[in-house]
Amino acid sequence: LTRLYGPLTALSNVRVDVMSALVSFERVFEVLDLKPGISEKPDARAIPRGAGRVEFRDVSFRYPSAAEVSLASLEDVAALDRTASEPVLRGVSFTVEPGQMVALVGPSGAGKSTIAMLVPRVYDVTDGSVLVGDVDVRGATLESLRDTIGVVTQDSHLFHETIAENLRYARPDATDEELWTALERAQVGHLIRDLPDGLDTVVGERGYRFSGGEKQRIAIARLLLKAPSVVILDEATAHLDSESEAAVQQALAAALTGRTALVIAHRLSTVRDADQILVVDGGRIVERGTHDELVAAGGLYAELYRTQFAVAGSPRPFAEELPPG
Ligand code: ADP
Ligand code: MG
Repeated sequence: LTRLYGPLTALSNVRVDVMSALVSFERVFEVLDLKPGISEKPDARAIPRGAGRVEFRDVSFRYPSAAEVSLASLEDVAALDRTASEPVLRGVSFTVEPGQMVALVGPSGAGKSTIAMLVPRVYDVTDGSVLVGDVDVRGATLESLRDTIGVVTQDSHLFHETIAENLRYARPDATDEELWTALERAQVGHLIRDLPDGLDTVVGERGYRFSGGEKQRIAIARLLLKAPSVVILDEATAHLDSESEAAVQQALAAALTGRTALVIAHRLSTVRDADQILVVDGGRIVERGTHDELVAAGGLYAELYRTQFAVAGSPRPFAEELPPG
C-alpha cells in the first residue's frame, strides 16, 4: 500500500485526510497512479455543506489512452491527439434535485459506471461539466468533494486493520457508541458484537475474513458515519446471494434516507422507486421518465422490463432482478 499512498501525499500531508480520501473514492484509490490530472485548483471553492443537487451539462467523455496516460505524467497532455479513442459518453445532461433518487439503467457497457465516476472526479469530463451543489467539481476543493459524496460499488474495500480503524476513516473523532450505532443501522452490529475482539477485530487475509455481503454492510456503516449528502451506488448488491442481498438492501435503505442518490440498479424494486429513470445506451441518455411513463412509451426501457426485469409467467415479476452490467 505504501506505493499507492505516494501520489496522494501530494494532495495532503495529513494521513487521516489521505485515508478518508481513499475511502470516499474507492475507485480513485484503484486508478490514482494513472491520473496525474486530478488535482485541486489554487482558487478551488468548497461545495456548500449539505448540498445535494447534482447536474450533468452536456457531458462527453472518453477514457485516456495508455499513451496519453504516460505522456500526461510528463505534463504534455495538450500535445495529444484528442481523437485518439472513441467517446464513451456523448451529450449527457440531467439533474438530480436534492433528496431525489435517480436510477441509471441500460445494457452492459452503456456507460452507467462511467457517469457515476465523473461525480467524485475519478475522471474529469472531456467536454461539458458536472456540478455538485452548483459548483463545477473541477473547481471544488477535494475535501468538500469527498465530504459531500459517498460511493458504494460492487466490491467494497476494507483495509487490513481493525473494524474501528476502518470505520474511523469516515469520521476520526467518532466514539465507540457512534460506531456501534452505524454498524447496527447497517445490519452488521450483531455480527461484530459476536466476535471475540468486537470493534478491534482485524479485517483481511491475516485477520477475520468477512463475506462479500458483510464487507458491503461494513462499508455502508462507514458511509453512514460519514453522512454524505450525495450517495452513489453502483450495483452495490450485485454478486450477493439472496439472503445477504436482503440485509444489504436494508442497510442501503438507511444509507439513502434523506440524501440525494444516483443509483445504478440491477433490481427492479429500486428502479420503480426512483423519482426519475435515465435509460443509457451507447453513451447517451436515450429515454427518461418514471417507470410507468417509460413502460407506456414502449421503448428500450419497456423492452428491458419485459425481457430482463420480469420473467415471463412469474407470479411476482417485480421481485426479479436485472443481471449485473
Ligand atoms: P456500464 O457500467 O453501463 O456497464 P461502463 O461505464 O463501465 O458501462 O463502460 C462504458 C464503456 O467504457 C464500455 O465500452 C467500456 O468498455 C468502456 N470502459 C470502461 N472502463 C474503461 C477504462 N478504464 N478504459 C477504457 N475504456 C473503458
Ligand atoms: Mg457498470
